[in-house]
Amino acid sequence: MLVADTFANAQEYAEKAHAIMAQRGIPAAPSNYTIWYDYVSGKNPSLTSAIDEIIQKDGLFSAEISKDLYEKFYLVEQQDEHIHEAGIKLQETLKHVVEQITVAGSDTENYGNKITDLATDLSDQDDSETLKKFVAEIVQETASITEKNKALQNQLQQSSKEINNLQENLEKVKIESLTDALTEIGNRKQFDLKLVEESKIATIEDTELCLLMMDIDHFKKFNDTYGHRVGDEVLKVVARHLKSAVKGQDTPARYGGEEFICLLPNTSIHDAESLANQVREKISKQVLKNKKTGQEFGRITLSIGVSKHVRGESLEGFVQRADEALYRAKDQGRNRVIKEII
Ligand code: GH3
Ligand code: MG
Ligand code: MG
Repeated sequence: MLVADTFANAQEYAEKAHAIMAQRGIPAAPSNYTIWYDYVSGKNPSLTSAIDEIIQKDGLFSAEISKDLYEKFYLVEQQDEHIHEAGIKLQETLKHVVEQITVAGSDTENYGNKITDLATDLSDQDDSETLKKFVAEIVQETASITEKNKALQNQLQQSSKEINNLQENLEKVKIESLTDALTEIGNRKQFDLKLVEESKIATIEDTELCLLMMDIDHFKKFNDTYGHRVGDEVLKVVARHLKSAVKGQDTPARYGGEEFICLLPNTSIHDAESLANQVREKISKQVLKNKKTGQEFGRITLSIGVSKHVRGESLEGFVQRADEALYRAKDQGRNRVIKEII
């Protein structure tokens, strides 16, 4: 629901969403409502096609499937909101700390003034009773400021703990926002950030930077045959293979749907091509099966396009050349690696 709807449109979408949910027995929880409102408005094409696919299969929207859809299509937005909330909380805590310090500063100043006044009055006195009274007053003022300072110290310790927790949470949310929820490897956002960073390094250090763009072959058919959930498990298997095939400096990521991408710094196009072939061969040889039931799902293959960064070129061009090579790999029969045409 990112784009604002007119009142009439919103009313119409809401009614349609309610009708479908009632018809399919889907509970009217806010997350389900978000999914179906967006579905009827057609604003999120990938969500719409994922739902259409489930409808074509068995059409059941169990709590688990609804949860999966929500996580897949809305979690990133939620994470952005969490980051925003954590930022506000951090700001509030810091504001509170500054207020405490300001109060402490003025308390200490008042204390100093009071002691100075007492000391001035004291120098005019010679009777011991009055002196005793002055000393008692000084002792009381000192005890009071000491207590206030102790309380402040406790409060500051508490605030410092809170700030540490918030910092840790923020770090966790940041990592989550760059991770694909299903496959647990980097997502497109992480890849885009790394691409900017690594292309700068490659330009400054004059090193080679390559890119693999991968797409599972005939994955729609696989899903249609075995179901979306089995398809999801296969995406996890591909991600695991990819992650274990690359080194620490490389960035493997899920680019979207059944497409993966991998950025390879300090790598020649020749080495990138042979790495791509290793991944492709390994995946094509694995017989996929359900470990619990032993049911076999056959094999899947990957088509891969490879491109090499040209110093100073636009990053879109670099990615597009890998994409074009990938489409040539599809055209030439799939289950193969094709390098860009330079
Ligand atoms: P091609 O060899 O030309 O790539 O054929 P394809 O069927 O893989 O390509 P197409 O683009 O027609 O379909 C992609 C399919 O990938 C559609 C959908 O079933 C599947 N898919 C995309 N994202 C997901 C996902 O998150 N989970 C599952 N299970 N399937 C997905
Ligand atoms: Mg695709
Ligand atoms: Mg495909």
